[in-house]
Amino acid sequence: MSKSILLAEVDDNVKTLLSTLLAARHHTVETHGDGKKILDLLALQTFDLVIVGDQLSDIDGIGLIVKIRSVNSQVPIVLLSKTWRDAAVYQQLTKDFRVSLVIHRPIKAALFGAQIESLFSSAEKSIQSHVQNEESIFQTLQGNYLKVLPERFEKLEEAITLARTNPDDAVSLLEAIRLAHNLKGTASSCGFGVLGESASSLEKALDAIRENQLSQHEAAWEEIDLIANLVKSNAVALTGDPVAQVDKRAFATIESDEEMNFPVPPPEGLDLDAYEPQDNFDTYDDSAAVRVMVFSSDTMPAHKRIGNKDTGLPVQVILSQNHEDAIAKAGKLTLDAVLIDIDVTQPAPALNLARDLRSLPGYETLPVAFLSTSQQQKYIEDSTHAGASLMLEKPLQSDIFNDAIEYLVNARQGGRPRVLIVDDDNDFVKIVASALGQEGMLVRQMADPTDLLTVIQEFHPDIVLLDVTIPIVSGFDVCRMIRTAAHFQDLPILFLTGQTGLETRLAAFEAGGDDYLPKPVARIELLTRVKVRLERARMLKERSNKDILTGLLIRRAFMEQLNDMAEESKRNGLIFSLSLIDVDHFKHVNDQYGHLAGDRVLSTFGQLLKKRFRVEDFRGRWGGEEFMVAFRHIRKETAGGALQRALEELRAFEFHGDHGESFNITFSAGLVSYPDDGTDVEDLIRKADERLYIAKDSGRNQLVTSG
Ligand code: GH3
Ligand code: MG
Ligand code: MG
Repeated sequence: MSKSILLAEVDDNVKTLLSTLLAARHHTVETHGDGKKILDLLALQTFDLVIVGDQLSDIDGIGLIVKIRSVNSQVPIVLLSKTWRDAAVYQQLTKDFRVSLVIHRPIKAALFGAQIESLFSSAEKSIQSHVQNEESIFQTLQGNYLKVLPERFEKLEEAITLARTNPDDAVSLLEAIRLAHNLKGTASSCGFGVLGESASSLEKALDAIRENQLSQHEAAWEEIDLIANLVKSNAVALTGDPVAQVDKRAFATIESDEEMNFPVPPPEGLDLDAYEPQDNFDTYDDSAAVRVMVFSSDTMPAHKRIGNKDTGLPVQVILSQNHEDAIAKAGKLTLDAVLIDIDVTQPAPALNLARDLRSLPGYETLPVAFLSTSQQQKYIEDSTHAGASLMLEKPLQSDIFNDAIEYLVNARQGGRPRVLIVDDDNDFVKIVASALGQEGMLVRQMADPTDLLTVIQEFHPDIVLLDVTIPIVSGFDVCRMIRTAAHFQDLPILFLTGQTGLETRLAAFEAGGDDYLPKPVARIELLTRVKVRLERARMLKERSNKDILTGLLIRRAFMEQLNDMAEESKRNGLIFSLSLIDVDHFKHVNDQYGHLAGDRVLSTFGQLLKKRFRVEDFRGRWGGEEFMVAFRHIRKETAGGALQRALEELRAFEFHGDHGESFNITFSAGLVSYPDDGTDVEDLIRKADERLYIAKDSGRNQLVTSG
């Protein structure tokens, strides 16, 4: 629809450009270069929009805007600005002077068009929900299912009891299997992944009884009891959840009184005759975001309740009681963390399990916590060496359990993907955040983009979802601003936009966006696009940050992380330790045993450093045969103890030369801590280097922590 636009601008080039662009959209444009004339015109005529340049012949742009508002004009205003202003100015412009949008110069044709159109369309837009039909159907499904869930579980329990008390009756066992199967399917389809997963375990276990004819065996039924309890606590966690209850009330108005028939397509193999049981007991379910193994000799840990209410992080707990079983399960499933019972009087089995798990392919960065009845200081070095990030006291409370899982998963380098959403539409953000949260992502929301760069620096998002129409500046301009920082060239940015025309799509790419998502957004499309972008970015980052020979961070990437940690420590008054390690007489190794043997030493060292220490510590190849390890939040004494153990392991390691001759290796290292040895990263590194030099000077093969 045609609009009348008043353009207050002195620059002839800009005038011509904007008039042409606006005329092409069938808007009428009147242009003047002096503020007084603009004010006069506004007093006489109504305009749909005023576009104000930075500087007019008699007044600056902001001065003119102040005047326009002081004569009480309600006309929408767009400010054309050559510079980025600070947050306070943007805020004042929006709040006090009701500026609708600041467009930053240089003006790009496609962007400008899209920005102006989105301004008009958002003004006209009635309060239209972004919640897509699919989304509300899904929620209705969930709400209805929660209503019938207790009854479904009760039926399942009855069937199990019947099968147990009539071990010869194959039919009642089949009935139990069928009910567990249905529970699994429906729960999963309704998005209750954790419940679905436990029901699936139950189904498998019941089926194993059928297949192996174990119904006479009490032990088999005891296992069923354990799993059924888990299913029950998952179900209770859902139905007893206040949020779910609120939802239920909300859904009460739209559902019929009849029991819902869930339109769940029968998963393959629903027909029991055709059903192929899988041989493994624990199953991999994509709907659980986080999988945690609890290794404990207690029959069942105190915290049966799983899933974090606050973050909505669906957690699957896998239990194990012996070493081989734990290793086997870890090989079959993808674990995100492990909690290991440790007996402090006899810690070896727990320490060994931690080390063995971290030696499995793909598990170098597995986060580990130890559970014990007492937290004895002298085991802390050992557990740091074995990679334990936390020492938790038994009995474990469920909230501590949840916090611990959260901590462990976040501690993992490149752990939970971080998503930053810049959007002022709260309902929309809630939907997006919940969908992404269910996938284990960490979501942060910003309603207004003025502090965006600071938040990006602090939060380190792996991806930014950027609404095109946010308060004051357009998403396109925000994206251009992000891209001006060399550091954020590779940060994936996805636009969220209600307009999906060719022009908007072009504008999105022109502004430097990687992709765009149309609003309302379909859950599956959102997840797919975000995941694809994240995966691509992760691969790129890994490729550019990793040293090929050792698998550790390259120097630049290590420095980036070190600087971040130093800043974080400064902000929060925390400590950390830093060590510089150098192979002794490495030139000799190369000369004597060959360059390839030298490479093997470096690669072995890298692998060991990766598997040892905690996931929140980080390791880098500093150059040649020098390495750095940074220990987060721990004292020099603890870090030194853990480091000594790792160096001992390496000293004991037998290497082979190019002609089969065997040899050993020693190391020298310097260790410093923040803030005792320095508060500046450069100073700390220099000090570590000095100490390394002292170690070399005093005969090598030692760790120096002072001087
Ligand atoms: P010091 O005990 O004083 O540290 O003696 P050093 O021989 O270890 O130290 P120096 O710095 O004199 O020699 C380091 C050697 O490491 C020289 C270089 O050829 C070798 N080197 C550096 N990078 C690599 C690599 O990637 N592979 C191999 N095989 N050797 C490397
Ligand atoms: Mg050396
Ligand atoms: Mg050296």
